[in-house]
Amino acid sequence: MDFLNKENLERIYRHASRAYPEECCGFVFANGGVHEGMNIQNELNARDPDIYQRTASTGYTFSVSDTLMLNKSFRSDNPVTVIYHSHPDVGAYFSKEDEDKALFLGQPIYPVKYLVVDVREARPCGAKLFEWANDGFVCSQEFSC
Ligand SMILES: [Zn+2]
Repeated sequence: MDFLNKENLERIYRHASRAYPEECCGFVFANGGVHEGMNIQNELNARDPDIYQRTASTGYTFSVSDTLMLNKSFRSDNPVTVIYHSHPDVGAYFSKEDEDKALFLGQPIYPVKYLVVDVREARPCGAKLFEWANDGFVCSQEFSC
């Protein structure tokens, strides 16, 4: 199964465009289904800016129901295989923040790959897929638009 086929990529690109200038987030399931998540980073920032210093323009946090869906998927026969989010105007790289979010005690929390979408002035400009390789995340695939 090609989780990141043209149709899925285009759907994710559209999500990234719509969310601009904020980050979008979501996931792709083993059967190829795409779930567009809700980025609640602005609500967290408004509630407690000392703890949640980033807004939705520079960070993402899945809603509670998204997180439940994600966690439940790993106990089902259709697990999430890719978690995606977008980077408005800064390029598709795996940031320190992204790494912190993906790891717990230095090990990946979820058995997934991470897709980062490069979106500039609301236009998607490709994406990069990152996966865990022993002691860090490496870019394993690049996609154009
Ligand atoms: Zn990021």
